[in-house]
Amino acid sequence: MLYGKKNRREAAYLEPIFGSKNEDEVLPSYHLGENSIEPRIAYQMIKDDLIDEGNSRENLATFCQTFMEPEAVQLMSETLDKNVIDKSEYPRTAEMENRCVNIIADLWHASESEKFIGTSTIGSSEACMLGGMAMKFAWRKQAEKLGVDIHKKKPNLIISSGYQVCWEKFCVYWDIELREIPMDAENMSLDVDQAMAAVDEYTIGIVGILGITYTGQYDDIKKLNDLVEKHNQETEHKVYIHVDAASGGLYTPFVEPELEWDFQLKNVVSINTSGHKYGLVYPGVGWVVWRDEQFLPKELVFKVSYLGGELPTMAINFSHSAAQLIGQYYNFVRFGFEGYQSIHQRTHDVALYLAKELKESRCFELINGGDQLPLVCYKLTADEKRAWTLYDLSDRLLMKGWQVPSYPLPKNLDKQVIQRIVVRSDFGMNMAHDFIEDLRAAITELDNSHLVFHEETEIKNYGFTH
Ligand SMILES: *Cc1c(COP(=O)(O)O)cnc(C)c1O
Repeated sequence: MLYGKKNRREAAYLEPIFGSKNEDEVLPSYHLGENSIEPRIAYQMIKDDLIDEGNSRENLATFCQTFMEPEAVQLMSETLDKNVIDKSEYPRTAEMENRCVNIIADLWHASESEKFIGTSTIGSSEACMLGGMAMKFAWRKQAEKLGVDIHKKKPNLIISSGYQVCWEKFCVYWDIELREIPMDAENMSLDVDQAMAAVDEYTIGIVGILGITYTGQYDDIKKLNDLVEKHNQETEHKVYIHVDAASGGLYTPFVEPELEWDFQLKNVVSINTSGHKYGLVYPGVGWVVWRDEQFLPKELVFKVSYLGGELPTMAINFSHSAAQLIGQYYNFVRFGFEGYQSIHQRTHDVALYLAKELKESRCFELINGGDQLPLVCYKLTADEKRAWTLYDLSDRLLMKGWQVPSYPLPKNLDKQVIQRIVVRSDFGMNMAHDFIEDLRAAITELDNSHLVFHEETEIKNYGFTH
């Protein structure tokens, strides 16, 4: 057999990426490129474009999950094509969502004698929006029945000033007055007496937060429930509690199972959580559950077709991938109660270790030492000789890749700048040791540095704080 010259059309694919002409092409940025690019080259160009972003595992600012097991990632990659909203095409996926709602309602002590109802969402922001809408519609129905002039004043929502920004969005989008109760310096959480004093006939509800984003403190929801019960006994204008448990909802039931904050409390009518925080799923998945159907006004429920019949849904979004919700179900199946408990317990231990080390450094005063959510926040101790600020420390730590935000506390306490470290399951004890070493080195460097100052120390948000 003799061979002649052949035209190898695939030759371009055999060239090494960094030796190919294609790799020299300018990455199309603001206009579509004229021609197509080989997939392996497009992949590499985009990977390279992302190369100098932060490393998510070293981001100590976020509550959002930055690690999942390879099996979970595989399962999620294989289910990216499934659309959550299409219950007819994907009835097994719909069933998994249903199972997750049941598992969560059970964790939150939904009562046997009531009919809980809940749904997956994109995250807590959507879940809070749905919880808030249900409160608004239920309030309007009650107010009309009791003869309140609903057009005279804006309805209001009561929440501590430590609220996450989604509640401000909710109030702006739905034309509701946000009655912000200043966090008190002693408890760093909702002042329940002041919250009750703010209630009137236009109050759609009170939000309790299980894990304030800024400090990790829990609002005293049990005490709030007692005061609400007393209020509701005395008036026809009943108010109820929604618990924003974005962080605590899938953490506290495992770490502090005896704490009463959920549907065990009579006036807690709805709860939201983020699956992508301590539910241990990549963003975005969230959940909202009402203790009983009666607290979710029917006007807010829409029907989608399902195997020839109909299924009630409630969502702001329509089409989106089911991969995250399948990832949530994977975690529930894989870890079980014991798994979640041991993961969160370790995370908690790491937070306590960090708190101990920070305290021993004598530079910091702890505001939250990881006793509730596994996060540590602290301020600088007073020391006239120290020339640097927490902002300088954030900068120094960033040189080692650690992202640690510095920011002022909310209203009332906003002269106080703090730094916050959120511990997640993938921040293990070994990483924590490394971090403390880097922190000590940063402090020594700063102590010995000749610093360049701005005229005035600004109080600013530095880094991502939600
Ligand atoms: C993170 C957070 C939210 C928003 O949650 P997403 O899931 O990111 O939309 C709402 N409330 C609290 C208390 C949070 O910590």
